Amino acid sequence: MFPFSFTKTSTVAEALRAGQRGGRFIAGGTTLVDLMRETVERPGALVDISALPLRDVATTSRGALRIGALVRMADAAAHRDVRTAHPVITEALELSASPQLRNMATIGGNIMQRTRCTYFRDVSAACNKRQPGSGCAALGGYNRTHAILGGSEHCVATHPSDLAVALTALEASVHLAGPDGERRVALADFLLRPGNTPDREQALRPGELITAVEVPALPHPSRSGYLKVRDRQSYEFALVSVAVALHVRDGVIRVARVAGGGVGTVPWKLSAVEWHLVGKRPSPRLWEEAAERAAEGSKPLAHNGFKVDLLKRAVVRQLSVVGGTR
Ligand code: SF4
Repeated sequence: MFPFSFTKTSTVAEALRAGQRGGRFIAGGTTLVDLMRETVERPGALVDISALPLRDVATTSRGALRIGALVRMADAAAHRDVRTAHPVITEALELSASPQLRNMATIGGNIMQRTRCTYFRDVSAACNKRQPGSGCAALGGYNRTHAILGGSEHCVATHPSDLAVALTALEASVHLAGPDGERRVALADFLLRPGNTPDREQALRPGELITAVEVPALPHPSRSGYLKVRDRQSYEFALVSVAVALHVRDGVIRVARVAGGGVGTVPWKLSAVEWHLVGKRPSPRLWEEAAERAAEGSKPLAHNGFKVDLLKRAVVRQLSVVGGTR
């Protein structure tokens, strides 16, 4: 291990001051400590934010769900408001990581977690995300788990969070606090595609901190759920995942929210699928037609072409489960 300073903070203001001096924020530490052990990340200063008062889950007067950034994954999954309004969030959390990790890791940290691309975590491999300008070992290497959507010639790593897929489907936003005040950013704008700068993964300004996640209200009754397809049944990242929420009234789909995980460099909103569903009656045929649009624009690599069909089949399956035709 290398030397670093460690500052404990108890208020957001204190944390922001310490962050301005160049410190990296740490809470559960379930990603960052691993990366430090492997010397993938070598921060010179850590700012412990685990004692900040960001642990509330609340439903706002407009019916939105607000989850504090420091709520543990396990606590968020079990919270009554989350389970009642958005089962897709509970399911995505409960299918993530392991019980031990879910008891430590926070909602903010889950969104900020870094890719599981094996080359990123191998300091002897070329990786533009870890070391800008060094190349991308995955492009010519083994890329079975990599992205078919949103990649660039500089990086094709997938975003690893299940929670972020559910939040993307639900069109959530993140609340940020920073040296210049507070602001709110749509999650779809917060998580960045790699483009020419794969090392820049979030639209964070220097010294900014996530304080909460907000999920807008869905019309009721809405049904939702999360499907995760992976190589083994637990403690594994998604090859493909699908988050679905539907509001059906008088036998017609009025609202559809669909996103895919394990396929994009960021959680992938499946807008073409949503558009095809709205205004139509649920049926197995409709699910098949909509799913045909799921992989539009995809660019499979040498070893991950199977994700195109797997994504379509996962969309059909999860639409039929949530849509009540199964
Ligand atoms: Fe690095 Fe991205 Fe290439 Fe993986 S896919 S080696 S993270 S640049």
